[in-house]
Amino acid sequence: MGNSRRADANAGANTGERHVDVAIVGGGMAGASLALMLARYCPDLRVVLLEQKPLPGNGTGLTLPSFDTRATALAAGSLQMLEQLGLWSELKKYCAPIREIHVSDRGRGLGARLDAALEDRARFDGMFGAVVENAALGPVLYRAMAETSIEAVAPAEVRQVRFDERGARLSWRDGAGAEQHLRAALLVAADGVDSPLCRQLGIETERVEYRQKALVTTLGLQRDHGGVAYERFTENGPMALLPLPDREGAHRAALVWTCDEADADALCALDSKAFLARVQRAFGWRAGRLVRSGEVASYRLSLSVAREQWRRHLVLVGNCAHFLHPVAGQGFNLTLRDCEALALALSHRRSESLAQDSTGALDLLEGYGRERQLDQQLTIGFSDRIPPLFASGNPLIRGSRQLGLLGLAIAPPVRASFLSQAAGFGL
Ligand SMILES: Cc1cc2nc3c(=O)[nH]c(=O)nc-3n(C[C@H](O)[C@H](O)[C@H](O)COP(=O)(O)OP(=O)(O)OC[C@H]3O[C@@H](n4cnc5c(N)ncnc54)[C@H](O)[C@@H]3O)c2cc1C
Repeated sequence: MGNSRRADANAGANTGERHVDVAIVGGGMAGASLALMLARYCPDLRVVLLEQKPLPGNGTGLTLPSFDTRATALAAGSLQMLEQLGLWSELKKYCAPIREIHVSDRGRGLGARLDAALEDRARFDGMFGAVVENAALGPVLYRAMAETSIEAVAPAEVRQVRFDERGARLSWRDGAGAEQHLRAALLVAADGVDSPLCRQLGIETERVEYRQKALVTTLGLQRDHGGVAYERFTENGPMALLPLPDREGAHRAALVWTCDEADADALCALDSKAFLARVQRAFGWRAGRLVRSGEVASYRLSLSVAREQWRRHLVLVGNCAHFLHPVAGQGFNLTLRDCEALALALSHRRSESLAQDSTGALDLLEGYGRERQLDQQLTIGFSDRIPPLFASGNPLIRGSRQLGLLGLAIAPPVRASFLSQAAGFGL
């Protein structure tokens, strides 16, 4: 489906109130992935995705927040899911494999090195995972969506939602500013952290402010990264250096550097040469000489978890349901597992009953929520425990961090549990 098909969807809405099975609000990584899962597992469902901004590949150069200059580490379990969606053969052109993970405490000589060739689990195609730039991921997802029956409508800003016995009634504004309406048996809120939809529906979130920012940029490397992902704990906060595919012969890596807010603001104010020197000094020489830094973007970090993730005719996915600290690279991986479970739950229900309104049934959504609870709790806990552990210079905390690294280096059960969480194969 190209842009013209999207225009058709708008035009169709002009002629009267449309009824669909599922309406997804938000076309970021979460909304787009769920749409593809539904196309794969529930091909008979009528699904509409509404996004307020122009979609990737629209030719305007504008981008959705999900598909900005960040890179995403996709865990082995996620690669397996993307392969099942038929995306891997296309996506892998834009990915750098993660074949080794080095976790270390800068300046203390202690570290663990995990090699995919030596592990018999937590792998996909001989790697722990792969890293893709979000700007490349977006077009891959939307090109794949164009091959399905999903209607992606953009720009479409959802402004109001009401629920009744039959489902949700959405009002949205199209690109020309005209008011449109749609009815859906199931409304999926995928409109990001601080979701306006959740606010409108009175859904509260539990929030922890980390008072930290993640600085994100692309670095040029003098030598090949060799498929190594580094997680390095420094006095200035944890740094992740993730392998990226070479571009025009240049070796590259994605940096995610988590700092206290004031330090982050000061670092952002540096010119690129001074910033690069600070990164090299903080990170050290494990990846060789750093030769270039791209533009630095910064993200304020918090943990934000919705107190309700489902109601009758409503379910929340992605950042709108849980927004995590990026240190462990778990947010999107967890979302993919949620989306797959939701699509499979809907698919099972469709095979049992063809009643239209069963799509948004409370028992179905409760069952989905129960199934996802443990994985969500463990993953959120994993992401939330790491920042204080690794940001602290306190000798007691530093001691337990070093014990953790030692365990990772020498104790197979510690390594297995770390890898199984990091690999995202679920439970
Ligand atoms: C620095 C950083 C690094 C990260 N690295 C990793 C990683 O390595 N691995 C990993 O797994 N995860 C990672 N994550 C997490 C990952 O980025 C998120 O899981 C992902 O962005 C989730 O996107 P989303 O679609 O839920 O939200 P968003 O990207 O915020 O998308 C929401 C969409 O909804 C649209 N919208 C909002 N309101 C409306 C409305 N009223 N009507 C219509 N549309 C609307 C918005 O325009 C937007 O496009 C990282 C996060 C950060 C901050």
